[in-house]
Amino acid sequence: MSRQQTTGGPGYWLTVLIIAGMVIGALVGQFLLHNAEAPIGSDHWTKIAGDIVLIRPLKLLVIPLVLFSVVAGVSRIGDPGQLGRLGLATLGYYFGTMILAVLLGTALVSIVAPGSSLSPEAAAAMQATGEAAFAADSELSKKLTGQSMGGTWTKILYQLIPSNLFAEMANGRPLGIIIFALGLGVALAVGRERTRVAREFFDAGFEALMVLVSWVIWLTPIGVFFLVAWTVGKIGLGELVAPIGGYMTVVIVGLLLHGAIVLPIILKLLGGNVHPFRFMGQMKPALLTAFGTDSSSATLPVTIETAESAGGCSKKATNFVLPLGSTINMDGTALYEAVAVVFLFQLFGIDLSAVQLFIVVITATLAAVGAAGIPSAGLVTMVIVIAAVNASLPGEETNLPIWSVGVILGVDRILDMCRTTVNVWGDAVGAKIMTRLAPD
Ligand code: ASP
Repeated sequence: MSRQQTTGGPGYWLTVLIIAGMVIGALVGQFLLHNAEAPIGSDHWTKIAGDIVLIRPLKLLVIPLVLFSVVAGVSRIGDPGQLGRLGLATLGYYFGTMILAVLLGTALVSIVAPGSSLSPEAAAAMQATGEAAFAADSELSKKLTGQSMGGTWTKILYQLIPSNLFAEMANGRPLGIIIFALGLGVALAVGRERTRVAREFFDAGFEALMVLVSWVIWLTPIGVFFLVAWTVGKIGLGELVAPIGGYMTVVIVGLLLHGAIVLPIILKLLGGNVHPFRFMGQMKPALLTAFGTDSSSATLPVTIETAESAGGCSKKATNFVLPLGSTINMDGTALYEAVAVVFLFQLFGIDLSAVQLFIVVITATLAAVGAAGIPSAGLVTMVIVIAAVNASLPGEETNLPIWSVGVILGVDRILDMCRTTVNVWGDAVGAKIMTRLAPD
């Protein structure tokens, strides 16, 4: 542990600055909301500045980092037996925690029933607003209509078995790169003396990239300032108490329970001698970056840096668990998808049976795996869950229309910030637990 989060340490100051950036950003956003001449869109200067200062530099690092991190990590593990155990344990952890998150979300939304407790007029008004919001967002409607269960499987399989590494890199698809890197890492380990130089190259390359990350990290407070100002300027803090408040409360309470109780218990049980909340404190720069950027993928460089330096995770575990986790392991998204879908069915007066809730649990987990670590990805893959439940309902007239997603569109950005934070926290907990299996 070279860098503790003590008062005065770099991690401490980074956290303070990011929080300051968020608070000032929220104030500026609120000012923009009331004073901007036209409604704030994606071409607003705050969004452009946030992209230039933070999102683009982070994204620039992600693809090389995924390649170097996984190759260096896997070739360092060396022994295929240990790699197999670590791989299985990691996948078991990802799916186990995602299913727990979905179960928690489904139980909460079924008990609280935020969509059923509205008057028929209020429900009808929300439906009408949703239809209009959906119709106004042509890009989203196009994306949503293109989603299907079969299509998702094919997409995941195509990404798992890529045919051109450079095409995957150019299109920013990490899954295929991870697969290639796994193979190359094992080959470098098996090659022993003949491949020693290449192993050293990837090791040193990884170290150099981490130095770059440690510089870029200092842009986080400024980038988060712009992005939060944009979000608040677009939506406004007042939206938090809008009629959709019940749904938002269930998602946020579910995320809090999962992040602050379920995952810490798992870490305590499986992580050995770890203090879960101390570890959460150590991971603060990564969690705040996830909150500010809405993207697990863009946060990955910060997550790796923080987990290794402040969080005391081993390189072997971090290099392997975090890149894979940032695209596959999404506890927050899984929970959110389940809550959102059940809420929409409630709002449209369609009762779901136990079998249909089971379908929600399974497909919400898969939809979260299929979601990329980018803003709003969960909103798009949610259609898979809706389609699967629709298919199990008796007829067209009882189906939930795809445009119903419009109902929750307006508040999605805020929920995305919260679920992305839980996604990254879940990855970090995984890296800490796997550190036990693969210490440096
Ligand atoms: N924004 C989330 C992430 O990057 C994915 C989602 O939309 O749920 O982790």
